[in-house]
This record gives sequence, C-alpha cells and structure tokens, in this order.
Amino acid sequence: MDIALLKALSEADAIAAAEQEVRAILLQEADALQKTVQFDGLGSVLIRLNESTGPKVMVCAHMDEVGFVVRSISREGAIDVLPIGNVRMAARELQPVRVTTRAGNKIRGLLDGERQGGEVGKLRVDIGARSDGEVALAGIAPGDRVTFDTPFTSLPHRRVMGKAFDDRLGCYLLVSLLRSLAHTPLDAEIWLVATSSEEVGLRGGQTAARAVQPDLSIVLDTACWAKNFDYGHDNHRQIGCGPMLVMYDKTLVAPPRLTSWVEETAAANAIPLQRDMFSNGGTDGGAIHLSGTGIPTVVLGPPTRYGHCAASIADTQDIAQTHQLLVALLKNTHANTVAHLTDFRC
Ligand SMILES: [Zn+2]
Repeated sequence: MDIALLKALSEADAIAAAEQEVRAILLQEADALQKTVQFDGLGSVLIRLNESTGPKVMVCAHMDEVGFVVRSISREGAIDVLPIGNVRMAARELQPVRVTTRAGNKIRGLLDGERQGGEVGKLRVDIGARSDGEVALAGIAPGDRVTFDTPFTSLPHRRVMGKAFDDRLGCYLLVSLLRSLAHTPLDAEIWLVATSSEEVGLRGGQTAARAVQPDLSIVLDTACWAKNFDYGHDNHRQIGCGPMLVMYDKTLVAPPRLTSWVEETAAANAIPLQRDMFSNGGTDGGAIHLSGTGIPTVVLGPPTRYGHCAASIADTQDIAQTHQLLVALLKNTHANTVAHLTDFRC
C-alpha cells in the first residue's frame, strides 16, 4: 500500500465538476509513466494503459465526493450552502468543513443546519466572520466549493480513516493498476478512467463511455452498511472480508456470465469476495452499461464503514485484494473473453 498516495487522494477536495485537485494527482502519475491522457468534455480523465488491437476495457472510478456549494452570504457573516450529492442528514450538523476559494485558499469553518423531523436544512458555514464584508475579504463568494475538513489517519489493524473514500479508494486503485501494469503485455487495451460528477447523477460515466467506447467495463466504487458493527450473514460490506462484487443495484443488474467470470478469477487467486446488492442508489455502471448498444459492466470495490459523511473507515487489506483481483481480471481478458460475454446464442 502507498499510504501517502491514499492520504493525498483523500485530502484532495473535489466535488462534482470541480475535481482539479484529484485530476492533478492522476495526471502526475500518468505523465511519470508517459501514458497517453485524454479528457471528455466534463473533465473525466482517460488514461490509456497500453495499446492493443484486442478488446477495449474501461476501468473507472469517480473523482467527486459529496460536499456543498456556497449559495449566499448573510449580512451577519453566515455562509449559506447547498449540498452537492446526497450528504447524509447527520453529516449536515456541527461538522468542521473547509471552503476552497476561487484563488485556491482553504478557509476552515463549522457547518450547521436546522433539523426539522428527519431533515436538516438551512445549512450554514461559520468561519468566525462578523459581517459579509469579512467573508468577502476571506475571498469567499457564491459558487465556491465546501468539503469536510477531515485529516487522513492510519488506524490499528491495517485500517485507515479519512474523507472522500467514496470514491478515492477507486481512484487509488486506478493509480495502483497504472503503476503495476504499466509495462505488462496485455491482450486487451485498458483505459483507466477517473470520472467527473458521479454523485450528482452518474454524469461523467456516460460521457467517458462515449469517448472510450469500451467492449467491457469494470466500475470501482464503495459502499457502507447501515449498521457498522453488524457481523451478521446479511452484511456483505464488512471491512476486512474482501472486495464486494455488486450483483444488483437500482441502475444495473450485473450479467451472470460476467459476475461468474469475476467469481472464478477471485477463486483461482484465493481472493475472498462479498456478494453485495445496493438497495439504494447506483454507480457509474448504471450509465456506462447503457452506452452505445450496451456494454457488459460489473461493479466491484472495497467496502467501507460510514459513508457520504465527514469520514469513512476502510481496511487496506480489502484495497490490496481488490487490486490483486483487478490485475488477475485484466491479465485474463482476451478477445474470446468478451466474445463469450456477448454471445447470447448459448
Ligand atoms: Zn461512489
């Protein structure tokens, strides 16, 4: 594990459409290995790992995290903000946050909201200012981005805590694949794609898929279980128990032949799998699999505890095992792999 890379990705601030801090890390990695980079019109980063006449595989993860945008500033110096993405209600009250100004300065403050029943609205950030003029002097203006102010921390038992693990764990895996497969001959052409604006409606997944036109797509994302210390049979998102293979979500039902291929590859490499289903929400896979005339798409990734809030906890062994699984899958992707997946006669 490259903990420094994971820390840098976690502490980068990137809500939908303002993903430059994450993009900069990915571009630096691609440039260091002299890989071709393209962009779609939304800012998704498309890194070509290798050239091949074989099938095209798009491995993707989203760059954006849930956060807030500055809406207006009161005469008293309170900063009204709107959530961008589905920030959980408990994470809208009494949370340290930071505003990224137009000039790129980081201004710390405290987010709070007014609770009415199960909802928390009227969100405001307090930076200690006494007037709208003082907020303006800090360089803050409507449209500025607000993210949780959470330092990355290593915990015992190979575990880590930080913000934006959804989906910087996926971005980390893109970089680790880039580094470890940069000089490996492969039968398939691999595109490592970091997408824009997933949290606001699977947007970069759509545009990036149109740009790459893959034959097969593997989407990396994470999810948490509602009860964090539930070790029961129905919790398929237990940290330390291996990657999740998503069999179903509201936007994508994984094709059985594709999930079988993942299961067989995991078993052959002694990698444990948790077969998960999302009852709420979806991933970029929902958008990607409908691109063109349809693309075989599967979603997998390391689980986390806590999500869409100020911090999550992950087990680095799950991340490492997801990496091993991806390497095995990509080494095992040939023309006949894709032909089999899309042969509906048998
Ligand atoms: Zn996600």
